[in-house]
Amino acid sequence: MSKHKFDDINLNLCNFCGNCIAVCPTKAIEIGDEKPVLTGNCISCGLCYDNCPGIEVPFRKLENNIFGKNSTSDIGVYKNIFISHSTDLNIRKNAASGGVVTSLLTYLFEEKNIDRAVVVGMNKNSPSEPEIKIVKSLSELSSTSQSKYTMIPLNSILDKVKDAKGKTAIVGLPCHIHGIRKLQDSGWLRNDIITIGLFCGFNVSHKATEYLVKKLGFAKEDIKKIEYRAGKWPGGFRIESKNGKKRYLPKEIYNFLMPMFVPKRCTVCPDLTGELADISVGDAWIEGYKGWSSVITRTEMGDKIFKSAVKNGYLKAEKISKEIILNTHSHLLRYKKRGIIIRMGNMKPLFDITFKSMSRSEWLKEVLLFLVIKISRSHLFRKIILSLPIVFIIKMSTWSKRFLKKGV
Ligand SMILES: Cc1cc2nc3c(=O)[nH]c(=O)nc-3n(C[C@H](O)[C@H](O)[C@H](O)COP(=O)(O)OP(=O)(O)OC[C@H]3O[C@@H](n4cnc5c(N)ncnc54)[C@H](O)[C@@H]3O)c2cc1C
Repeated sequence: MSKHKFDDINLNLCNFCGNCIAVCPTKAIEIGDEKPVLTGNCISCGLCYDNCPGIEVPFRKLENNIFGKNSTSDIGVYKNIFISHSTDLNIRKNAASGGVVTSLLTYLFEEKNIDRAVVVGMNKNSPSEPEIKIVKSLSELSSTSQSKYTMIPLNSILDKVKDAKGKTAIVGLPCHIHGIRKLQDSGWLRNDIITIGLFCGFNVSHKATEYLVKKLGFAKEDIKKIEYRAGKWPGGFRIESKNGKKRYLPKEIYNFLMPMFVPKRCTVCPDLTGELADISVGDAWIEGYKGWSSVITRTEMGDKIFKSAVKNGYLKAEKISKEIILNTHSHLLRYKKRGIIIRMGNMKPLFDITFKSMSRSEWLKEVLLFLVIKISRSHLFRKIILSLPIVFIIKMSTWSKRFLKKGV
């Protein structure tokens, strides 16, 4: 093990997964403002540095550990690909897409295949803040459905489940799963955890939520509920105050806010589909299948769990080909697997993968996106745009949806 200390970590590469907080033996690292902070005594044990997926994700090594082989495709190693949705109407209604994640966890709990699940809900006392939860029963699960478009240091809680008896399932974004696989590779975390990965094109800082709350005229202390994927699929941002005031913005608001609020490390993540998870789940942008989820089963265990949940009536599923996923997620796959080269600049996490080459038109589109992100992140641009009335922001988000639909 290295003798690195916390200060050796380049925090520009931090993806706020929470690994360093969990592994620190002296509990000297705490959650700061979307970054870990050293508040105690660093003993230079090297655990935080060695387990940091911000600095390095050795994809080939980790793939070999998990699958016994390396991927040859943009969606990683897989066994089967499905589109699916929950058979429970309530779960489906409250979910981000098809309610597959919540139904899978329901199945695992009811069949006594897991004793706990690490998931994300919203904080009861401060409903505009996300909360990492270790859920031990079905009744606690329903409040954790839906995507939260905000940075969450999920893995910071892993020291609480590390030595717990019985089985654990964890739902996380690709960056969280990278962290978990690194912890397993180093021997810090056990290997029998069930990992459910979410597809992720990009995440945004919690400042995006704070901006919307303020812009829509709500005070933080008056908020009763915030949902990021409320209503009919694909849903949108819904906020409700304690005295019954409600506002709703369609999901595309996030396409518009993304370039201004995307954390820099997210722009150099090459993983859209949660390639190191046992099972990956995303939206299904397939004509005729609105409100379904895309599902990729990757390990023997993941494939077995998903098929059993279908067989036992928790999920409805249809098998689809790899090409359908490649087509329906093509612009984000191009962004992750090809355009990343343009965005990396001098920010170079270590990935040990070969990035794909691009055609001239792909280059142009990715350079354009790079410029949009670069300009949008500048202080002056944000200041001007974000000071505009919300009606303009809504108009511009509708326009950005059309722009993206044209394939940029
Ligand atoms: C930031 C973000 C970006 C995404 N980007 C894409 C994308 O580009 N393309 C795409 O197809 N899909 C994307 N997804 C995934 C998609 O939004 C759904 O989460 C996925 O389809 C599963 O839906 P479901 O109905 O099966 O899940 P549900 O049954 O609604 O369950 C959702 C689960 O996700 C967990 N969760 C929610 N937010 C977070 C978070 N921030 N961090 C960790 N865990 C969380 C919850 O704990 C819950 O268990 C993204 C999700 C997030 C959170």
